Amino acid sequence: MLKVKNLHKKYSGESLSAVVDISFSLKECEVLAVVGKSGSGKSTLLRMLAGLMKPDAGVVEFDGKPLKNPEEQLIAGHDKIKMVFQDFQVKPNMTVAENVKYKLLHFNKEYQAERCEELLDTCGLSTLAEKMPHELSGGQQQRLSLARALADDPKLLLMDEPFSNLDPIIKEDLLLELTEIVKKERLSLILVSHDTRDALLIADRIAYVEEGRLVQIGDNETVYKQPKTLEVAQFFGRVNEISLDGQKHFIRAEDLTPQLEENKFEVTVSSSTFMGGVYLNRARYSGRKLVVFYSSEKLSENSNMVLGFKGRCQLHF
Ligand code: ADP
Ligand code: MG
Repeated sequence: MLKVKNLHKKYSGESLSAVVDISFSLKECEVLAVVGKSGSGKSTLLRMLAGLMKPDAGVVEFDGKPLKNPEEQLIAGHDKIKMVFQDFQVKPNMTVAENVKYKLLHFNKEYQAERCEELLDTCGLSTLAEKMPHELSGGQQQRLSLARALADDPKLLLMDEPFSNLDPIIKEDLLLELTEIVKKERLSLILVSHDTRDALLIADRIAYVEEGRLVQIGDNETVYKQPKTLEVAQFFGRVNEISLDGQKHFIRAEDLTPQLEENKFEVTVSSSTFMGGVYLNRARYSGRKLVVFYSSEKLSENSNMVLGFKGRCQLHF
């Protein structure tokens, strides 16, 4: 449905390119999360996918046709591709229902009412239809932005760090609801985030971007378990570099286990910090080398213990 070919973008006056030779494609009803550190080029990429910014080189094809450049049209963008902005572009002097209906003005009254009701229901706003936007919580306002975007009947939704100003659990619930909405409305979604939990929670595939380049794209488990580079691995969590018998092993903190008989080595615990549910431990082995690992119980400082890891948990780059 969406084909991105060799996209490049360099802002004038900048020495480095923001997006470098990015290519990938997206299927219908697929959810792709674009992740990467701040400044890696995610937002720039998304703006080009939305048709809001002209690439220096490369094309974005939607349903087999190249997107028009912003300056070639009256209103920048594509009518089937919709960017949901986090600064909710709602009308402050209209009720929730009016805000949605406003987007449906070109339809007849009956369809307007019917579709509005459906969208409010889909976005969990039915009981709030007569409220004014300022009476809504942050999460409810985000739902309203989404309902308005859906009213335009897009096929592809683009979201840049959505819900990032919300509390973690509210954000998690909204992301889960979003996946259901996307399935129900048969939409594709590209979501940009710097938070890997968002990506793992809702995406079918994850694309990792670094310094404007697409380093890896694949299904969630593949990107997590077979990261192409140490940077990708570390983006998803703590990775230990362990030297044993003259060999280097890359092991995730969660794969380092006390009392395991495989690949074992002795450590001295230097700290054990409660993280809610688990303890994050720092320990030293063969002198001063540091490892981090998790445990379900608090470990005593300066205690000695044996850690090990399964051979199949090793990351290879
Ligand atoms: P991300 O969304 O991953 O944080 P951005 O796409 O916003 O990354 O930025 C990528 C790079 O382009 C960064 O180095 C940023 O400083 C630069 N950049 C972004 N927007 C502009 C702009 N309008 N003018 C100049 N440089 C920009
Ligand atoms: Mg950004």
